[in-house]
Amino acid sequence: MPQYQAVKGTRDIFPEEAALWKYIEGVVHTLASLYGFSEIRTPVFEYTELFQRGIGSTTDIVGKEMFTFQPDAKGRSLTLRPEMTAGVMRAALQSNLLSSAPVHKLYYIGELFRKERPQAGRQRQFSQFGAELLGVSSPAAVAEVITLMMQVFRSLGLHGLKLRINSLGDTDDRLRYREALQAYFAPFQDMLDEASKERLEKNPLRILDSKNPALQELIAGAPRLYDYLNPASVQDFEKVLFYLGERDIAFEIDYRLVRGLDYYCNTAFEVTSSELGAQDAIGGGGRYDGLARELGSSSDVPASGFAVGMERLLITMEKQGLLAALEAPGPDVYIVVQQVDLADHGLQIACRLRNAGIRTEIDLAARSMKAQMREANRIKASYALFIGMAEYTAGLYSLKNLATSEQTTLSLDAVVERLLERVEKEPLSS
Ligand code: AMP
Repeated sequence: MPQYQAVKGTRDIFPEEAALWKYIEGVVHTLASLYGFSEIRTPVFEYTELFQRGIGSTTDIVGKEMFTFQPDAKGRSLTLRPEMTAGVMRAALQSNLLSSAPVHKLYYIGELFRKERPQAGRQRQFSQFGAELLGVSSPAAVAEVITLMMQVFRSLGLHGLKLRINSLGDTDDRLRYREALQAYFAPFQDMLDEASKERLEKNPLRILDSKNPALQELIAGAPRLYDYLNPASVQDFEKVLFYLGERDIAFEIDYRLVRGLDYYCNTAFEVTSSELGAQDAIGGGGRYDGLARELGSSSDVPASGFAVGMERLLITMEKQGLLAALEAPGPDVYIVVQQVDLADHGLQIACRLRNAGIRTEIDLAARSMKAQMREANRIKASYALFIGMAEYTAGLYSLKNLATSEQTTLSLDAVVERLLERVEKEPLSS
């Protein structure tokens, strides 16, 4: 076994798989731009406090999953980002983005780090793409981010995903609900596990998130947040559902879906895939008007967004048989040099073809013609261009279509023209 292994919970992405990532990222870039979102790239590490404030110190992420390193020279602790929203909001506030334009629609694709126990669909370094719509809080804005997310899934051909949605109401709604939950759980304190006991005091909504099987029956009997919503919150939620219905986006209302942080409000949603097993969430999001204030802003910044896990997206696509069709295309042409003393001429032609925009591969190890042909087929080149002494002298080359075995003899100009026709039909990005 080699001396060095990848760190547990991380993985290498080799070219074949990287091509799939590139394709999916391309769909994300195209659709985000279609909806008027622009890309933002924020640093991979931030001051630890940002996440403590922005995610909440009672969460598992902040409590036990952050990769935090030694304080910098000024004694400030640093952490690898475990999610994107806090960094995006920090960047927006720091650069006063919202003063230049009242609404900012941002999207990202990036790596995240959480010290979780690795298992299928759960890594310590993983990637998400997502969007944040800052500066406007309306049912239309939330519906816009959900629609973008669902359109990415749709464009990738995914089916059978379940969108669950709920309303968390406003701050007052949740305060009343919080009291109701505390009153409900209080008589059952002895049944609660340690984590839930702690949450009962600090943040009882998070008890509803518990995966502990022993608590599920108790949780099922708890009051519903929905019953504590004021009429304006109900109306807001119904408008979101109306937009989704109009856009043929199927959803299921899940009254137990909560985001246990104070700055979330109104709509929250999650998308799951039955193809994923225990870690079945593929993405989620909601409205988080209070985050900016949590990060020190003097006022709320209306905001909503979503995040989707790339690895889980790929696993789901694989299970649904959607990846085979996305195989990266081979080169347009493989130059087969018939004798060693023509190798330099072959290289010149490769330069010429590449300069013309034709994806060209050529042997660099002076291998036999048979080996070159084998390689051309292995890498699925569309054509082989044969360079022999007779061709060299006459300035005519044999171009063979490797799919049909059809072969023609052409001048180099005609070869370029023929291959360019193909490139135009099947551009690189396809
Ligand atoms: P969250 O930020 O926890 O709401 O996660 C959003 C999405 O990121 C999830 O639905 C998953 O698809 C993905 N995700 C979260 N944690 C991990 C992880 N440790 N490994 C792989 N994907 C993850």
